[in-house]
Amino acid sequence: MANAEIGVIGGSGFYSFLDDVTEVQVETPYGPPSDSLFLGEIAGRKVAFLPRHGRGHHLPPHRINYRANMWALRSVGVRQVLGPCAVGSLRPEYGPGTLLVPDQLVDRTKSRAQTYFDGLPLPDGTVPNVVHVSLADPYCPTGRTSALKAAHGRHWEPVDGGTLVVIEGPRFSTRAESLWHRAQGWSVVGMTGHPEAALARELELCYTSLTLVTDLDAGAGTGEGVSHEEVLQAFAANVDRLRGVLFDTVAALPANEARDCLCANALNGMDPGFQLPQGQ
Ligand SMILES: [Zn+2]
Repeated sequence: MANAEIGVIGGSGFYSFLDDVTEVQVETPYGPPSDSLFLGEIAGRKVAFLPRHGRGHHLPPHRINYRANMWALRSVGVRQVLGPCAVGSLRPEYGPGTLLVPDQLVDRTKSRAQTYFDGLPLPDGTVPNVVHVSLADPYCPTGRTSALKAAHGRHWEPVDGGTLVVIEGPRFSTRAESLWHRAQGWSVVGMTGHPEAALARELELCYTSLTLVTDLDAGAGTGEGVSHEEVLQAFAANVDRLRGVLFDTVAALPANEARDCLCANALNGMDPGFQLPQGQ
C-alpha cells in the first residue's frame, strides 16, 4: 500500500488540484472513514488527504466517523495531522477571514464516539485496556509553531492561541448559548474539532487545528445570526490562502521519526491493549 507521513483532514479544495493523486480505500475496526484517502506530495512530503465530510459533503458533523478517520490515517503511516475547519467567532475583533490557531479546546458535543478505550472488543476479539491520556494541551506545539510561521510567511497575520469550543450541531448556537460561550472567554466555535484532537492523542498522533473564521456567532454579531450561505461564501473567499498556509505548514513539519513533542509519547508506559495501526 502507498504510504504517507502527514495527514490533512479538510475539504476537497485541498487535494483536487494535485497531480498524481492515488486514491486508497482503507477499512478500519470502526467501519469506513469519511471517504477514501487521497495520497499525494507537497514539497517532497508524502501527504494523505481525507475529506472530512466525504466527497460531495454528505456527512453532517455528528455523523462523521472520527475514530475511523484517525485510524485510517495512522494505518497508512501518518503521524502528524492538520485539521483545518471553519468556525464562528465569539469575539467581534476576530472578524470573517481571521485565521486562529487555537491552543485550547472545550467539548460541548453530545453523541460522538470519542475514545478508542471504551472497553468494547474490537472485531478481532482484542479488548482495549482502560487508558486515560492527558489532553491538558490538546494541540501539538510543533504543529502550532509551524502553522503560525506559515501564516506569517504568507502575510496573513494569525491569532496565536485561543479556545475552540465544539458544539454538536448541525444547527448553529442560540443567542443565549453563544453569549454564554463568549462570557467564558472562549474564542471561536465549531462542530468538528472534537473528538479529532482527543482521538489523535490516543493514537500518539500530532494534531494541529487551523480555524478560519467565516462569521460572527449569534452572540458576537448583530442581526439574525449565522446563515449557512454566509459561511460558504466566507470560506470560498479564503480557501486559496488557507491552502497556501496548509502547504507551507506541511513543508515545515519535522520528519515523523524526529518528533520530540508530548503527542509522540502520549501512551508512555500505558498498554492500550491492542496494536496501534502502523503503516509504513
Ligand atoms: Zn506533536
